[in-house]
Order: sequence, then C-alpha cells, then structure tokens
Amino acid sequence: MIDVHCHLNFHAFEKDYEAVIKSAFDAGVTKIINVGTKIDSSKKAVELAKNHKNLYAIVGVHPHHADKPPHPNPLPKGEGEGWIEQLENIAKNPKVVGIGECGIDYYRYKSNDIVASKLQKEVFIKQIGLTYKLKLPLQIHNRHAGKDIIDILINYKSYLSNPPGMFHCMSGDLDLLKKVLNLGFYVGFDGNITYRGIAKGETTDLKDLVKYTPLDRIVTETDSPFLTPEPKRGSRNIPKHVIIVGRFIGKLKGLTFAEVEEQTTKNANQLFQLNAKR
Ligand SMILES: [Zn+2]
Ligand SMILES: [Zn+2]
Repeated sequence: MIDVHCHLNFHAFEKDYEAVIKSAFDAGVTKIINVGTKIDSSKKAVELAKNHKNLYAIVGVHPHHADKPPHPNPLPKGEGEGWIEQLENIAKNPKVVGIGECGIDYYRYKSNDIVASKLQKEVFIKQIGLTYKLKLPLQIHNRHAGKDIIDILINYKSYLSNPPGMFHCMSGDLDLLKKVLNLGFYVGFDGNITYRGIAKGETTDLKDLVKYTPLDRIVTETDSPFLTPEPKRGSRNIPKHVIIVGRFIGKLKGLTFAEVEEQTTKNANQLFQLNAKR
C-alpha cells in the first residue's frame, strides 16, 4: 500500500516520526508521500524525503494559508515576499512529486475562518501555473468548493499535466465525482470512509463515492495525523493505517485486499512517477 497524503512534517510527529515511518514500512506500506501546507512545512516534507528511501514530498500552499495581506500579492502566513518563487525553488528538488495541497476550502473551522474566496482562487491558480512550469501533478484540497475548483480547472485545462493529478480526501456528490473523473483526475480516499453516516454539510455518503470510483482511478491516503479510521478513531492517525483504508475499500467494492493493494499501488506509482525517483 502507498500513503499518498500524510503530514509527518507536522508537530504531531516531531518526537517520533522515525518510529512512525518504520512501523508503516514494517506493516507492508511501501511508499509514503508527505505533504506541505505552506512554505515551512513544505521544506520539512522535502527534508524528510531526502533522508529516507521510499519517502517523497508534495509541496504547496493550503487554502487556509492563502490570506496574508498585502493584497493583491497574497502571501502565505508569515512567509514573506515571493512565496510562489520560494515554492518553485523547493519544488525543484528531485524528491518532490507534486504540487499541493492546494485548492479551495469554504468550510468554517473553529481554528480557521473562511479565507476570502478571491485570495484562495489566486493562490490556487498560481500553483496550477507551477504544475505547468515544472510538469508535476496537482494534489487538490477541496471542501465545499467543488464547483469553483472545477470551474478553475476547466479554465486552465491546457496548463494541467497528464495525468493532471488527484483530488485528495474526496468528498462532495456524485456529480462532482463524475466531473473529477472526466477531467482525468485520480481520487484519494482516507480513513473517514469508515465513519458512519454523512459528514456535516455533505449530501453523499463517502462509501457511495468509493463504490462509484473505478479502482484504476483510486489512490489511498491517511491524512495523518487526522482522519483516523475506525476502529482506531480517537487516537492520532499514522501512515500504517492506510492498510485499514485499503481493506475497507475492498469490502465496499467486493474485492480482496490484494486486488486493492496491487491496483492502487500501480495508480500511485503512475500518477506520481514514483519509480522514476529514488
Ligand atoms: Zn486537505
Ligand atoms: Zn492534508
């Protein structure tokens, strides 16, 4: 199994990331991609990748960090001038396999208010430009913003790579999923597919999205330290639990774990060209 989206670069793993990485590889996880959400966590993801075989990095600015004035040159929080140039430099490291997580988020979090949509869009579009320049796939974060994201992707279709990337932690309705698939994107699922019921503000059970998505378009992820799958919910999530996600996808689709493992591994390798990197 491959975990294509986690955050071992976050504080939650500061003390024990080495042990967490080892536990994943010992359990049968073969590759892990750490994802940045602003300049410093992107740098950290690259550092981790440089020091470990089978660890890779995706670098970018999350919509939560799109709101630093002065406008119209939005800067990620605390990152100073020229963030897109800084990001480009970071992204040139050979262990960087994609640009993200970037996108749009209209969910009101306790810890983070909704960033002005204009800023979110600008920061997202600049990062689409970077995928074009560096020929890297996108890893998209969407929450309650499917329509705006699809509009932008259609507008900038000629700038997208082939394949264009993936929607991480897929949510939304079947109509959005169909559009995502039609644009050629892969779809990432996390431990929240094991949760009962439908999340606040959503209309469609994630289990139905899993069932609808063809296996050859699915990639597996954990979003560690968040979204711990059942029955481990309540504790910190770790990349090892991507195996639970794989098993659950198999159960939903009536496939064996081996079938899910084989195809999703192939998908991740293909999307991020992991075998071409060391
Ligand atoms: Zn995300
Ligand atoms: Zn994430």
